[in-house]
Amino acid sequence: MAHAFDVIVVGVGSMGASTCWHLARRGLRVLGLEQGPIPNPEASFAGLTRAIRLSYAEHPDYVPLLQGAYKYWEVLEEESGEEILRLTGALYMGPPNGELVSGASLSAEQHGLAHTLYTHAELEENWPQFQLPDSFEGLYEDKAGYLLSERAVEAFVAEARKHGADLRGGEMVTNWTTTNSGVRVQVGNNEYSAQHLVIAAGAWTGKILNDMSLPLVVTRQVLGWVAPPRPDNFISDKFPVWVIDGNKGEGVHYGFPITPDGSGGEGLKLALHWPGKKVDPSTVIRDKLPNDDSDIQDALIRYLPSGRGPLLSQRVCLYTNSSDGDFIIDRHPKFPQVSLACGFSGHGFKFASVIGEVLADLATNGKTDWPIGFLGLSRFAR
Ligand SMILES: Cc1cc2nc3c(=O)[nH]c(=O)nc-3n(C[C@H](O)[C@H](O)[C@H](O)COP(=O)(O)OP(=O)(O)OC[C@H]3O[C@@H](n4cnc5c(N)ncnc54)[C@H](O)[C@@H]3O)c2cc1C
Repeated sequence: MAHAFDVIVVGVGSMGASTCWHLARRGLRVLGLEQGPIPNPEASFAGLTRAIRLSYAEHPDYVPLLQGAYKYWEVLEEESGEEILRLTGALYMGPPNGELVSGASLSAEQHGLAHTLYTHAELEENWPQFQLPDSFEGLYEDKAGYLLSERAVEAFVAEARKHGADLRGGEMVTNWTTTNSGVRVQVGNNEYSAQHLVIAAGAWTGKILNDMSLPLVVTRQVLGWVAPPRPDNFISDKFPVWVIDGNKGEGVHYGFPITPDGSGGEGLKLALHWPGKKVDPSTVIRDKLPNDDSDIQDALIRYLPSGRGPLLSQRVCLYTNSSDGDFIIDRHPKFPQVSLACGFSGHGFKFASVIGEVLADLATNGKTDWPIGFLGLSRFAR
């Protein structure tokens, strides 16, 4: 049977929009279906900026993918003419032998990445904005910074459309089935068919793949922007992207330099990365809750007292956490014409530019040369 499309992508968010871009650049006929508007302000890339790091604390196996991601962010910038990636350097701080600093060191050493280790005294001398427990140490790397995430998704969408992709907002996929020659996808009373299906549904993955019982937990995360008394001390020539792995029970916090042009929002942005609060994506409260402000202020009191100021704005966003914190990228175990990518566990955006290529490979060739074996579904069977 002839299909109107080669590939249907469910979810035109971070990974889906990039997949549409990669597929359309290859000359394939792509249909992207998005339940919200495009771009969707409730998707997980919302909130203007996302950190990008290379000495990857989570696992050294991510580094080759990251190197591909940096390359494709540059390609997207060139093709779209938009500035998306800003290298400000990044500083990771925590207790000795904590997961953050030792994990980043391991990745840097294993992959020969430029980095510098700092003692507590050196951290204090170079970045007096921070107040850290005496035992804390740090790792700094230049080749890190942040991405303008909303602008990036807009660029994926615009470039995919230039290459002929048909991307439609307000189209919630309610069901999909496989056929002898491909897939059939249902949106209300409408049906679309294609040879391949890519599911990149973010926090809603558990609903559209409910028969797979994927080990996913969605959490509510709050981003805050505050007004420090001396904003000049927090712009990127003095202040990098940062992550602090607290002592046991104190969580992981991170933040960004102030963007004087306002592209990253007005004020100093910071957030609590872990732990988040478990929610259902359909019923999550996106308005401000009583404790939201204190989560942000507590981090300032503890680590950045000179940055303390009134909350200017906040944004609620969803993490889709896998049970081990690693992404899930694979072909469907029963249907080879269906691929899926989910469980980006609060650290996936920086990879979006390359994950789109991975998913385009899986859809069109059934395999990819990118090293994604450690992200496959088979690990959950072990
Ligand atoms: C507060 C916060 C801070 C973060 N910070 C960082 C960071 O600093 N660095 C970093 O690398 N990562 C970070 N992340 C993680 C990163 O943003 C996510 O991992 C990434 O955006 C997930 O992409 P996704 O494509 O899986 O989901 P999304 O971008 O949410 O896309 C999924 C899309 O699918 C659509 N959809 C779902 N179901 C359907 C359906 N049935 N039919 C049609 N459309 C559907 C949704 O509406 C959505 O648009 C952060 C995330 C949050 C929430």
